[in-house]
Amino acid sequence: MTSNTAIPSGPLGRHGTRRVLIAHGDRKIWVGGDAPIVVQSMTNTDTADAVGTAIQIKELARAGSELVRLTVDRPEAAAAVPYIRDQLDKMGVDVPLVGDFHYNGHTLLTDYPDCAAALSKYRINPGNVGKGAKRDTQFAQMIEVAMRHDKPVRIGVNWGSLDQALLARIMDENAARAQPWSAQAVMYEALITSAIENAVRAEELGMGRDKIILSCKVSGVQDLVAVYRELARRCDYPLHLGLTEAGMGSKGIVASTAALSVLLQEGIGDTIRISLTPEPGGDRTKEVVVGQEILQTMGLRKFTPMVIACPGCGRTTSTTFQELADDIQTYLRDSMPEWKQSYPGVEAMNVAVMGCIVNGPGESKHANIGISLPGTGESPAAPVFVDGQKFATLRGDRIVEEFQAIVLDYVKKNYGKAN
Ligand code: SF4
Repeated sequence: MTSNTAIPSGPLGRHGTRRVLIAHGDRKIWVGGDAPIVVQSMTNTDTADAVGTAIQIKELARAGSELVRLTVDRPEAAAAVPYIRDQLDKMGVDVPLVGDFHYNGHTLLTDYPDCAAALSKYRINPGNVGKGAKRDTQFAQMIEVAMRHDKPVRIGVNWGSLDQALLARIMDENAARAQPWSAQAVMYEALITSAIENAVRAEELGMGRDKIILSCKVSGVQDLVAVYRELARRCDYPLHLGLTEAGMGSKGIVASTAALSVLLQEGIGDTIRISLTPEPGGDRTKEVVVGQEILQTMGLRKFTPMVIACPGCGRTTSTTFQELADDIQTYLRDSMPEWKQSYPGVEAMNVAVMGCIVNGPGESKHANIGISLPGTGESPAAPVFVDGQKFATLRGDRIVEEFQAIVLDYVKKNYGKAN
């Protein structure tokens, strides 16, 4: 049985949410309570393309995504979901799948029971469930399917698709106040009310409180911080945290990191997703790596050995230093899926790659393994330190391969199951 409960939770106090179990077979992922903060991701393939979607899910899972969400937007997509699940199981990929529903989720989940069964959780956007009188019945229909299949749900509010009837109601209430709130405060209130009222409605329909996760996604950093602080204050449902439409490249990474770090530091957030817009042809797994790096650099979880590298400066005139740092980082990350099985605890290892003698030997001695490359004008030798002691001096054009061999040897000796 695999579960995320074995991984120690972070050092910071969490805001005291309940725990929700998301399972597929023996794979059990807990979200909330003392469980480690879960990293999840979302596919961007056409779900009806079952093979393409299964391949991308496998890549996301291999990168470390503990849950993978996929769009279920039309009958062809719903029909493909059980096939995708089956393909993944045959490949030994047991990551739980989350179905993302808008507008027609009540119909798809009812008409495609194999899809409802294959998914491990449903995301319901209360702003896109239906209008007028249909809204309540269609929401109830989705909750009933979830209960019948014993699946948890995320009530996922997004300010790009906020329930307009609810917003109008909150605005009317605001207009009646002696001192009306600002438009921004009204928006926050509408987001939070939508999430909590729909969760309460699901409970009234019979859904267990231990089956509900909430989110209120917005695209502004300060808005997200304000909304989640208030949401956490008002409820104990586990919270899915993410900055929606974070953007491309460094902007998306920086905005997500800025917003999530503030909240995670306050113990708010039980599962995260980084909504990066990929570069054309870019790698979807980037959002998983960024999510892991946020948690790891904050000391909340450990996923991959850390590479400590200096920024380089005028003392490093060749590209050897950047290439070695990049090669080692890639080598460690690529090795992790296998190392995780064979060398438990290896994710806590630190590797230093330093550019010259100024800080190189000192920083290298603090790491499990460190290499101090020769800077400009230094003798062409690279001392390697293992557990603080000088271990070897590398020379010539095979420094990368020789250093990788030393790292692998260290991993085998220190994290092998016999240890
Ligand atoms: S360790 Fe050397 S190369 Fe790296 S930043 Fe410091 S002085 Fe520059």
